[in-house]
Amino acid sequence: ASGYTLLRDPRHNKGLAFTEYERDAHYLRGLLPPALMTQELQEKKLMHNLRQYEVPLQRYMAMMDLQERNERLFYKLLIDNVEELLPVVYTPTVGEACQKYGSIFRRPQGLYISLKEKGKILEVLKNWPERNIQVIVVTDGERILGLGDLGCQGMGIPVGKLSLYTALGGLRPSACLPVTIDVGTNNEKLLNDEFYIGLRQRRATGQEYAELLEEFMTAVKKNYGEKVLVQFEDFANHNAFDLLEKYSPTHLVFNDDIQGTASVVLAGLLAALKLVGGALADHKFLFLGAGEAGTGIAELIALELSKQTKAPLEETRKKIWLVDSKGLIVSSRKESLQHFKKPWAHDHEPVKGLLDAVKAIKPTVLIGSSGVGKTFTKEVVEAMASINEKPLILALSNPTSQSECTAEEAYTWSKGRAIFASGSPFDPVEYNSEVFVPGQANNAYIFPGFGLGLIMSGAIRVHDDMLLAASEALAAQVKQENFDKGLIYPPFSNIRNISANIAAKVAAKAYELGLASRLPRPKDLVKHAESCMYSPVYRSYR
Ligand code: NAP
Ligand code: MN
Repeated sequence: ASGYTLLRDPRHNKGLAFTEYERDAHYLRGLLPPALMTQELQEKKLMHNLRQYEVPLQRYMAMMDLQERNERLFYKLLIDNVEELLPVVYTPTVGEACQKYGSIFRRPQGLYISLKEKGKILEVLKNWPERNIQVIVVTDGERILGLGDLGCQGMGIPVGKLSLYTALGGLRPSACLPVTIDVGTNNEKLLNDEFYIGLRQRRATGQEYAELLEEFMTAVKKNYGEKVLVQFEDFANHNAFDLLEKYSPTHLVFNDDIQGTASVVLAGLLAALKLVGGALADHKFLFLGAGEAGTGIAELIALELSKQTKAPLEETRKKIWLVDSKGLIVSSRKESLQHFKKPWAHDHEPVKGLLDAVKAIKPTVLIGSSGVGKTFTKEVVEAMASINEKPLILALSNPTSQSECTAEEAYTWSKGRAIFASGSPFDPVEYNSEVFVPGQANNAYIFPGFGLGLIMSGAIRVHDDMLLAASEALAAQVKQENFDKGLIYPPFSNIRNISANIAAKVAAKAYELGLASRLPRPKDLVKHAESCMYSPVYRSYR
């Protein structure tokens, strides 16, 4: 290949880091200015450039440009500056990017599979340049973060998630495939937008939808084999639960919104016990939002409680209450409830709003998973603080605009007593001349390590016990110095090490359950996980 092609190949381009030898050997003379730069110096320059941008979306676009130009440098930047760059390539900025995806779209970063491709999905998969795919993140764009139906523009989510699979979990970029399934959109604004990049029709549903998904899942298994991991992301709940149930028995599938979120929240709760005392069984949980995240978390807490106390699930579920858009979910509503809410319809008189539910249930833990911002009002937080010495408050909804409350509100309204974490990051808060550091309760802690664990063990199915193992592994990574700051999650700066530990525990569980196909089992699974991880350091081309 010519030097010119090499410079335009993001997987191999090193820019000014090509050595004198490489410039001679690969026909690069004259195509580059004479200076030589190390990868570290390039990194320093790029971080300097990025920090010049005031507007978050400009930073996002600069990062996407870099990914298209020089992949290893992109990942080196992301790995070395993870706390600073996570909010750029992931929540909250990725939300804005999806909203404006039509106008910032430049080059395809993943596969678009629309109703037009029906009957040809296997061929479409073969158009993707990589053959060796290990993880697919797929969305249909119907529930992007807490922003609703963004149709085809949801592509930003699989792209962002997969860049975290590589940066945080160490999967090879070439093994990651972002997919957006386009069955239309019910978003009127997009339907009327002349620059909209997706199918201009209302969403296909029912059999038409099911058939396209079935063709996709069949083609994926046929093309990439049984061990490819398919992660469902940001589907609306009326499809998400059904897809997971339908494909779990036959495919290696994982729903991040239901299962990943559950695992990360359970980890935070297990860690928080060190701060608030008692056992998990001493706590009572109230959720605002009874969809994928809410009921997914609730079910995993109930499962953990049942393992700890040997009580049946039907019993442990009774410690958990959920509020949806109609109020507290109670048994008198059972007939009209969606199936995933039914296990949570306990005996209680009807309660309308969240504040009244807090007063009636008296929870020790309050979890926001409704996608609606500003719902943890002053009254709600004060009520939590009057019931509990240290109320545990998790505002999970993304992006920041949808957060149930801000970190500052949680700390001031609880007079500094709340233990708080949120889905999108908040800066530390000073209150009463004390500094409070909010944690980030985000599934980004779990899915990269979880996926690595599945792939390195050659797992063929996902099992709930693997989610519990991941929670325990993450909780075990919270150090005393983190607890001292009121944190219930470890800092992201150490995430590769954390992911290796999560991967090891997930893989161990896969071997234990007989679901692992990569034999023999490596002795030291943490070391093995580390050795599997992609390094973004430049290769020398000899
Ligand atoms: P979902 O399945 O659509 O569920 C939303 C739930 O919230 C539904 O039960 C809905 O009630 C309820 N709701 C909506 N408006 C409400 C209101 N005004 N008052 C009370 N309840 C209301 O969505 P999801 O997948 O669970 O996601 C929800 C949010 O969690 C999103 O913002 C998402 O970004 C966030 N999330 C965060 C993470 C993380 O890692 N931090 C992970 C996943 C999701 P009805 O059922 O009555 O309509
Ligand atoms: Mn999601």
